[in-house]
Amino acid sequence: MQPEFVDFHCHLDLYPDLETAIAKCDALRVATLAVTTTPKAFARNQQLARQSEFVRVALGLHPQLVAERAMELDLFSRLLPETRYVGEVGLDAGPRHYRSFETQKHVFRTILTLCAQAGDKVLSVHSVRAAKHVLDLIEECLPKGRGKVVLHWFTGSAAEVRRGLELGCLFSVNERMLSSPNGRKILQEIPNTRLLTETDGPFVERSGNAITPGDVLPTLEAIAKVKDLAVEAVQHQVISNLSNMLRTL
Ligand SMILES: [Zn+2]
Repeated sequence: MQPEFVDFHCHLDLYPDLETAIAKCDALRVATLAVTTTPKAFARNQQLARQSEFVRVALGLHPQLVAERAMELDLFSRLLPETRYVGEVGLDAGPRHYRSFETQKHVFRTILTLCAQAGDKVLSVHSVRAAKHVLDLIEECLPKGRGKVVLHWFTGSAAEVRRGLELGCLFSVNERMLSSPNGRKILQEIPNTRLLTETDGPFVERSGNAITPGDVLPTLEAIAKVKDLAVEAVQHQVISNLSNMLRTL
């Protein structure tokens, strides 16, 4: 069955009930990438999503957790053959995580190298205050044709967006990102064919409550407004971008 929507970055396992969250994505026909934050979390997600038509589970090692979890890199490499999807991975140079930045670079470089060796992975990548370093490492370690990168909630400059495009990246955008002028400016730099939608739930909130998995309609509406397109046109474009990405890899 064809999906109706795409939520390419959602932490389903951080909602109160993972099974309910998966069922919701299936009921709404949302092609969902369930990102995880540590390799230890992967097995339970994969187990519960096994029967799901629309949920795919990504193996992750979140840059904000690298300081305590870098030793799970071994587990990461053992689990990698079990999935085509990797995330959340990347770099975070925000003030709270800057101390682990060198370790983060080591971990991210290793993950990109493992993915390049495998040759068929799709990665959801975090790049808070570290767009340049993320792009440098992608360029260095993951040659085009050896994997696909989706830059999640990108906040780099217009020049860095263009560099990401040259490296073959797609961009997944969310409601909170598009509520800021800078987020909308970034969106204008991204061609329609390189766009995906995400919720980044439960971290993104709407009127004080966590956004629900797959609830990307406000994001589609925000894209439609910026791009001067009909909401349905954006919705179809995003679905075809996802299937093209998976087909051409
Ligand atoms: Zn996230």
